[in-house]
Amino acid sequence: MKFSTKIESLQPSATIELNSKALELQNKGYEIVRLTAGEPDFETPQPIINAAYQAMKEGKTKYTDNKGIKELRQKIAQYINKKYSTNYNENNVIVTNGGKQALFNSLFLITNPGDEIIVIDPSWVSYDAQIRMVGGIPVHVKATKENNYIPEKKHLENAITKKTKAIIINSPNNPTGVVYDKEFMSFISKLSIDHDFIILSDEVYDALVYDGDYTSMANFEKSRDRTIFVNSFSKTWSMTGWRVGYTIANEKIITQMAKIQSHSTSNVNTPSQYAALKALEIDNSYMVKEFKKRRDYLYAEFIKLGLTFHKPKGAFYYFIDISKYGLNDKEFCEKLLEYGLAVVPGSAFFCDGHIRLSFAASMNDLQKAVEILKKFLTDLE
Ligand code: PLP
Repeated sequence: MKFSTKIESLQPSATIELNSKALELQNKGYEIVRLTAGEPDFETPQPIINAAYQAMKEGKTKYTDNKGIKELRQKIAQYINKKYSTNYNENNVIVTNGGKQALFNSLFLITNPGDEIIVIDPSWVSYDAQIRMVGGIPVHVKATKENNYIPEKKHLENAITKKTKAIIINSPNNPTGVVYDKEFMSFISKLSIDHDFIILSDEVYDALVYDGDYTSMANFEKSRDRTIFVNSFSKTWSMTGWRVGYTIANEKIITQMAKIQSHSTSNVNTPSQYAALKALEIDNSYMVKEFKKRRDYLYAEFIKLGLTFHKPKGAFYYFIDISKYGLNDKEFCEKLLEYGLAVVPGSAFFCDGHIRLSFAASMNDLQKAVEILKKFLTDLE
């Protein structure tokens, strides 16, 4: 059978591939510490689960408005308005199947064949694939450790052409944990106006910030109409499996996006929407506190091990430069797996010579991971 050229050019997600390898070894009886996952290890808070259960008992099990129930869209708008001093209302919001669908729908909405979308590397695994799936051309701009993984302004400017349709910004960043400061966000805002392109701002980790202030792209009024803001309940409330995310944008964008959703998936599953409605009332600061504790623990240990990295300010990953050890990132990960520790190679994020290690794991597992790394690095020398 001949598949479409679009699908032939797609690679399966490397993060999932490595996780499967680790699982396979675990099933064979090996003890593996898995620091590959991009999901919080906390339980979904009980009131959220109860809200879904209650909704189901009340018969809220049918189709809803394709864009999501009005109460949820209203509450999301209020929640974001309070955080970022915006003035969105329910017509600016569409509830999606996770942040992933929010991004996909956004790219599908704006991309004509051959349109260029700028992505900053290291970049999350699915941006490149999603851009290709909708017929666009990903234009990768490198950010380096020397610049704290913030791309140089001139490199971004040089990447802009007549075909530039949008830029994807991801802060806090997966995989680097970088939180872009106000100055950089303001630069992107201005650039989008000067060169007339769209900003796709993926802020799914905006509620997991450990140091300093956080600046959202929504903060910039002048570019707000050309900003598509993507967020999710997955990371903030440990709700990865519930599949609820959302897009916020000007009403015209949301109306068009609703057409895509109406012909592809329809509304997000109804009990999950009621769960999300409850989630917006739940304080997640206990998770933030715990993640910060883990980040700080690893920071001290990694310094002792002589690792090269940028201290993450948000999200829950360490992105470590392993180029000095004489192995490429895939070999490094494969060998490390033989020692019992699973992490993801940087090439999955378009950045060879690095590994990504998630600290969304118990302290016990993190302590084991440090011991394994210590032994592995000693044996490498
Ligand atoms: N964006 C980034 C940067 C992510 O890391 C993830 C999940 O790993 C997503 C978007 C999508 O999250 P979800 O679809 O679970 O909301």
